[in-house]
Amino acid sequence: MERVFNFNPGPAVLPLEALKEAQAEFLNYKNTGMSILEISHRSKEAEAMLQETKNTIKELWGIPDNYKILFLQGGASSQFFMVPMNLAGEKTVDYVITGTWSEKALEEANILKKKTNVVYTSKETNYDRVPKPSELQFSKDAAYVHITTNNTIFGTQWHYLPETNGIPLVMDMSSDALSYPIDFKNIGLIYAGAQKNLGPAGVTLVIIREDLLARVPKELPTMLKYTTHEKNDSLYNTPPVFAIYMVGLVAKWLKNIGGIKKIKEINEEKAKIIYDAIDNSNGFYKGHAQKDSRSLMNITFTLANKDLEGKFDKEATAIGLVGLKGHRSVGGMRASIYNAMPIEGCQKLAEFMNDFAKKNK
Ligand SMILES: *Cc1c(COP(=O)(O)O)cnc(C)c1O
Repeated sequence: MERVFNFNPGPAVLPLEALKEAQAEFLNYKNTGMSILEISHRSKEAEAMLQETKNTIKELWGIPDNYKILFLQGGASSQFFMVPMNLAGEKTVDYVITGTWSEKALEEANILKKKTNVVYTSKETNYDRVPKPSELQFSKDAAYVHITTNNTIFGTQWHYLPETNGIPLVMDMSSDALSYPIDFKNIGLIYAGAQKNLGPAGVTLVIIREDLLARVPKELPTMLKYTTHEKNDSLYNTPPVFAIYMVGLVAKWLKNIGGIKKIKEINEEKAKIIYDAIDNSNGFYKGHAQKDSRSLMNITFTLANKDLEGKFDKEATAIGLVGLKGHRSVGGMRASIYNAMPIEGCQKLAEFMNDFAKKNK
């Protein structure tokens, strides 16, 4: 069977090159006579793989030396509580609410009875945008400012990083990590569940600025302290070796195609193809996100005639364009076009959209 173009929001498309490389060494990893699934996480092969994965990510994204890279479990959802538990202390914590995932992050901080402050929300307009810089006023002595850089469900994305004037910025980058260069100036912590843009489910990438480790309260359970994982280089307990290995192969693929600047250009080109199909459809398709907040990763749109949405999905699937059904909070369609989605997938989708509009108007 031929492979399809997979527009699922996550778990999501992975680079064919990375899958093939994993397949080629699946039964016998680096002459151990064992699969990577079977080797000890303390073997020299596994440790070397882990270091190499970290190094590739660090090099790709230009992560400064004073940041630690951790591979944790429990998904991005566990970072919703680990962040406030470890970093908030008694101070106010600022949250910018741009969708379901930031709501959930805020909720965990509230469960922990932290002093939360909602700096901004676009809930009234069903999260169709992210704030402009002028709409943001942070608490003076906030412990951190939390933002969701790409709103996977609503299809919006920040196209700048807010100036927090030294307050550590905590960013949920689950659906756009490693897709554009960033300036680490104000960044305190980045987290990302791997299964959107980095690899398979099972591992969460955490990048934390060293000085923030001093805030971690001693009384937290061992597994919930960033310091535990930092001290033990993500090997305090058994890490998800296979998932980390796949993240490493994806990172290597990114490096081979030209790195983060290059992937940003490619992503811009890819997204434009689909947004053009929306904008040139004379109202047949309507984008959910306001134009200056449009995501390069998740493109959300509805059909003017809602009754056609089922048909759209069915016919797209029949020609190998799968996973386009939108999330229930927006309705309509969502095309997730992460780093690994080839440009051909976007071209084929745009062609299909044009044809479908012509036939059904
Ligand atoms: C998917 C997603 C999450 C949740 O990730 P899990 O790893 O499933 O916990 C959190 N934030 C964003 C932005 C997401 O897209």
